Amino acid sequence: MEEIRDCLICGSNSLEDHQSVKDHFGTQEVFQLQGCRQCHTLFTNPRPEENNIIKYYKSGSYISHGDKINSLFNRLYNLIQSQNLKYKQRIVEKYSFKGKLLDYGCGVGSFLQHMSQKGWEVTGVEPDEQARKISTSRDLPVKELNQIEDCFNCISLFHVLEHVHSLNETLEQLCTLLDRNGILILALPNYKSYDAQHYEQFWAGYDVPRHLYHFSQKSITHLAKKFGLNIVATHPLYFDSYYVSLLSEKYKGSKFPIVPAAVQGFISNQKAKRNKEYSSLIYILSK
Ligand SMILES: [Zn+2]
Repeated sequence: MEEIRDCLICGSNSLEDHQSVKDHFGTQEVFQLQGCRQCHTLFTNPRPEENNIIKYYKSGSYISHGDKINSLFNRLYNLIQSQNLKYKQRIVEKYSFKGKLLDYGCGVGSFLQHMSQKGWEVTGVEPDEQARKISTSRDLPVKELNQIEDCFNCISLFHVLEHVHSLNETLEQLCTLLDRNGILILALPNYKSYDAQHYEQFWAGYDVPRHLYHFSQKSITHLAKKFGLNIVATHPLYFDSYYVSLLSEKYKGSKFPIVPAAVQGFISNQKAKRNKEYSSLIYILSK
């Protein structure tokens, strides 16, 4: 295990215990969350080392979405995914000229493929070999970050940054690959959301130890400043409150998770209309 002494975002040395959370999805091991008093980022601390984290991804069925569309749930999932892809595209095209896109942590390449079909020149980076193979089989160019020399109009990380061990080094590299007028898109769970407060240690957005960091809007303000970036806008991911609530209800042991998850997901989005603390947020950053 690796222990963090100083905040990786703002450098402050005042980390304090926040909450203990179980790896509900896999090993059932308990991890400690510690929070920075200054920038309000939470860290899974101590955390598994980079060369050891793989076992926590293999212990459950982390990529559980096959190509089966026979069951109702899968059909619903695919419908939501296609709506999500269009929503992400609209956000990208609202803030960026159409051109080159780098999707960091592209997974099986769904977003890359969608954007490629819409006329974007796409590149992906993906550490997981299995997912990378699927992307490559879809004729999508997936590379190592170090091999990339292009400049991009848009670099996206959808639910990825919270998994990255070398947080600062990666962001630094990505910033050098970002065009002068380009945008960096970060989609992250928000532990200040209503559903996080409601489910506490059962909140699926913590997802320890795979999520190494737990960001708030304040932490992203600090992060942006550190890399000389501006926060241009934030957008909600409306569906995440429902999905995260459904998983959280399962972790709590609910017998009929769908109904309470729908209620809590709805309440979370309603409350966030006023305070902007959505379950997950998309941050648009520029140089
Ligand atoms: Zn801090």
